[in-house]
Amino acid sequence: MPILEVKQLHKSFGALEVLKGMSLNVAEGEVVALIGASGSGKSTLLRCVNRLETPTGGSVVFEGQEVTPQNLNRVRREIGMVFQRFNLFPHLTALQNVTLAPCKVLKIPEEQAKREGMEFLAQVQLAAKAHNYPGELSGGQQQRVAIARALALRPKLLLFDEPTSALDPELVGEVLAVLRQLAHEGRTMVIATHEMGFAREVAHRVIFLDEGVICEEGHPEQVFTNPKEERTKAFLARVLQR
Ligand code: ADP
Ligand code: MG
Repeated sequence: MPILEVKQLHKSFGALEVLKGMSLNVAEGEVVALIGASGSGKSTLLRCVNRLETPTGGSVVFEGQEVTPQNLNRVRREIGMVFQRFNLFPHLTALQNVTLAPCKVLKIPEEQAKREGMEFLAQVQLAAKAHNYPGELSGGQQQRVAIARALALRPKLLLFDEPTSALDPELVGEVLAVLRQLAHEGRTMVIATHEMGFAREVAHRVIFLDEGVICEEGHPEQVFTNPKEERTKAFLARVLQR
């Protein structure tokens, strides 16, 4: 059974139809890269999956259960999301950012949350910055705190929306290294990314979105070296040239 099933998902903003009937499954332990031009619908798809947006049609099934307004909280708890902009609370330390939700949502006692929070920070190589505020951290470090924060809720599925796009080029590598490690741990992840080399190396499957539909999907080697669709070829020619 797939952990996530997206069935004929539609999303419009007013007259603008952004997702035009999108269907995909994600298996447990699978790493899926979403690629596609800016505006193709990657963020909207991810945001519909964890219900930051309400789809206008179709359904999202998580662990065999359709996501509805009644079970949103479970979905938000069990699906972790990391955004392009790190969205850390500026007035909280790295550790406090990580422990906030476990204490509030999972009702984990503070001492335990702190102990575990340190372990999550260690996983992203940031134990030494636990007591620093976001303003004292580089973009790459802030993004790694955001990843630790997502891990702290013990999500069954992790969604990443262009996690390196807001970073200076020299900071991209440290965040990709953390994602690579999570992939090797067998975590289930869907990653919208413009990092084609990373997608090719780490993803089990690549999905190319174009204007709100899945234009092509397949094994990274196939999609990157031998794309079937003209639109995929044109997109890859554009992005790989840079
Ligand atoms: P991508 O992440 O692939 O760049 P998005 O999902 O962000 O694409 O956007 C797809 C389209 O939906 C774009 O045309 C964008 O302008 C539009 N869009 C996204 N969010 C909104 C919104 N809240 N209101 C209106 N239009 C939106
Ligand atoms: Mg986006």
